[in-house]
Amino acid sequence: MNFSRDNQINKLSANNNFDLLIIGGGIVGAAALEMASNQNINTLLVEKNDFSSGASSRSTKLLHGGIRYLPQMEFGLVRESLQEQKVLRQLLGNLYKPLDLLAPIYKDDGFADLPKLFQLNNIASGVFKFGLSFYDFLGSRSKAEKHQLISKEETINMFPHIKKENLIRSFLFRDAQTDDAKLVLTLLRNAVEINQSTAVNYLEVLNINKDNKGYNVELKDTINEEEYRIRCKYIIAATGTHSLPGEYLSKSTKLTFSGGAHLVLNGDPLRLNNKGVLLPRTEDNRVMFVLPWLDNTIIGTTDTKHFSGSLDIPFANKDDIDYLIRNVKKYFDIENIDYVSSWSGVRALIGRGETSSKNISRGHFVNNIDKNFIQVAGGKLTGFRIIAKEALSYLFNNEFQISELGFIDEIINIDNQLNNENIEKCIENYSAAKPVDYMIRRSHLSWFNKDGGKYYIAEIAKKFKYKNAEEETLKELKAEGLITSDTL
Ligand SMILES: Cc1cc2nc3c(=O)[nH]c(=O)nc-3n(C[C@H](O)[C@H](O)[C@H](O)COP(=O)(O)OP(=O)(O)OC[C@H]3O[C@@H](n4cnc5c(N)ncnc54)[C@H](O)[C@@H]3O)c2cc1C
Repeated sequence: MNFSRDNQINKLSANNNFDLLIIGGGIVGAAALEMASNQNINTLLVEKNDFSSGASSRSTKLLHGGIRYLPQMEFGLVRESLQEQKVLRQLLGNLYKPLDLLAPIYKDDGFADLPKLFQLNNIASGVFKFGLSFYDFLGSRSKAEKHQLISKEETINMFPHIKKENLIRSFLFRDAQTDDAKLVLTLLRNAVEINQSTAVNYLEVLNINKDNKGYNVELKDTINEEEYRIRCKYIIAATGTHSLPGEYLSKSTKLTFSGGAHLVLNGDPLRLNNKGVLLPRTEDNRVMFVLPWLDNTIIGTTDTKHFSGSLDIPFANKDDIDYLIRNVKKYFDIENIDYVSSWSGVRALIGRGETSSKNISRGHFVNNIDKNFIQVAGGKLTGFRIIAKEALSYLFNNEFQISELGFIDEIINIDNQLNNENIEKCIENYSAAKPVDYMIRRSHLSWFNKDGGKYYIAEIAKKFKYKNAEEETLKELKAEGLITSDTL
C-alpha cells in the first residue's frame, strides 16, 4: 500500500491493536520502525507534526565521526560513529556522500575545541595532526581515506576565497553528508510500502494509560481534529526534545537543549568546489561548518544555549544570522554573504547541569519509563541505526537490522522550481499532507528560493486537500523565518 497519508489514516481506522507504538517520526523513530517491520512486529509510528520536522531535518547533514568530540575525550562515541560511517556507506547508497573537509591552521587562531594550551602556535598544528591520525585510526581508514597535510599555497589554490593572512597550512580529512529529511522519509517508505507497517504524521499522542493487558493510547489528528484510540503492548518514545505525553509527563527524562542555526547560499559563492571547511574559531570560541549541499552552500553552527521560536518550529533570528555572516567573513575574503534562507534546530542532550552545552555528552540514552515502555533520545544523526537497534533490543529479544533499503535512487528530486509531478509523488509515496511538507522537507524548494518560495504557494496549494492551504502555508513559512517581510 502506498505511503500516502490518506492510506495510513485508513489503515489506522481499520486496525487499533498493535504490538508496538513508536512515538516520534524523526530519524530514531523511523529507523526503529524499519527494523521492527523487518521482524514482522505489528507496529504503528505516529508523529505529531510532519515526519522529520524536529531535529532530523534541521541538522548540519553530516554523517561524521565528530572530530570535535576528541578533545572532550569522547573516544568511544567517535570510534562508534566512524565505524558506523562504513556501515552507512554500504546501506545508504546515494544518501551517503563522502565529503572532504578542510581544517585550516591560522597563526594565533587555534581550534576552539582544543584546550587553550594546545592552541599555541608552535604546537597547534602538531596537536591537530595527532588528533586526525587518531581519527583515522579509530575509523580503521585505508590509505586513500586518511587525512592529508596541505601547504598554504595548495590551500589557496583549492579554496581561492579563503583568508590568506596568517594562514600557515591546512589538513584535509574525510567525513560524509546526507539529506537528513530524505533519509527519514526513505526509511519510513520502506517500512510502510515493503513491510506493511503504519506511519501517520500529524497525529499526536495526547495520553497513555496502562492496564493489565498493555497500554491504551489517545491520539489526535492535528489536521482535522479527529481523535483515535489504540491499544499496544510496547512503547518506544523517540520524542527528541519533547517530554512524554499526558500522565507520563512527570516520568520524562530530564534533558537540556542545544540549538544551532544555518544559512543557505545559492550555488557556490565561496568557491568550495564540493569540499567543506571547518572554521577553527568563532568570536565566542566555537567551531562552525561551511559546506556544499545539493549544489548550494550551507553555513552552520551548533551548541547555542538559546533558540528562537518553539521546540516544534525554532527559527534563526537576526542575531543568529548576523553571527554566521560575521564569522564566515572572518575566514573568507568575500564582501557580501547573500543568503537565500535559514533554518534552526534544537537537539536533546542528557541533562547534567553543566553550564556550556558544548561540554555535555552527545551520547544517547534509553530510559525505562514503565513496563515495556522506554524513552530514547540524544545522540547523533550518524548513530541512528545503533540508537534504534539499542531501543528495540531493550524491549525484544530479536536480532534487529535495517534491510537493504529500496527507493533510494527513486527518491524525490531536489527542486529549485515547481515540479508538479514531484508534488504528486510526494503526496502519494512520501505522505506530504501540507504544502510546507513538500516545500521544506521533501523538495527543499523553500530553502533554495528567496522568501521561502512563496511565489509558488498558490500553485502548490491547489494540489493539497488541506484547509486554507495558502494562508496556512504563508503563516508556517513565516514561523520558520523563511518569509521575513511583515506583509504576507
Ligand atoms: C543544529 C543541529 C545540527 C546537528 N547536526 C548534526 C550533524 O551534522 N550530524 C549528526 O550526526 N547529528 C547532528 N545533529 C543531531 C541530530 O540532528 C539529532 O541527533 C537527531 O536528528 C535526533 O533525532 P530524533 O529522532 O531523536 O529526534 P527528532 O528528529 O527531534 O524527532 C522527535 C519527534 O518526536 C515527535 N514527537 C514528540 N512528542 C510527540 C507526541 N506526543 N506525539 C507524536 N509525536 C511526538 C516530534 O514532533 C519530533 O518530530 C544536529 C542537531 C542539531 C540541533
